[in-house]
Amino acid sequence: MTPFFLDINESVYVFDGKSLMLHSDLCDSCREPQASGTGTCSWCRIDHSHREEAKDRNTFRMLAHYGILDDYLAGVRDIHRKRP
Ligand SMILES: [Zn+2]
Repeated sequence: MTPFFLDINESVYVFDGKSLMLHSDLCDSCREPQASGTGTCSWCRIDHSHREEAKDRNTFRMLAHYGILDDYLAGVRDIHRKRP
């Protein structure tokens, strides 16, 4: 991801270390600056399978699945409560 700026005409500019440069390679969907010829940005390429994979790898969901999430969170709260 590259920080970018829009002018009043919604032209996209990227800071090159010295100045803002007009950037014409944009995501086809959201107009975020892209490397040359990539079409859509990494955000816009996220699909249902990516969401399912992220959900399945979520540690809190795993703890909840095994019924130990509440105990885990209570332990974390105890740790924070005991901090000086
Ligand atoms: Zn995009």
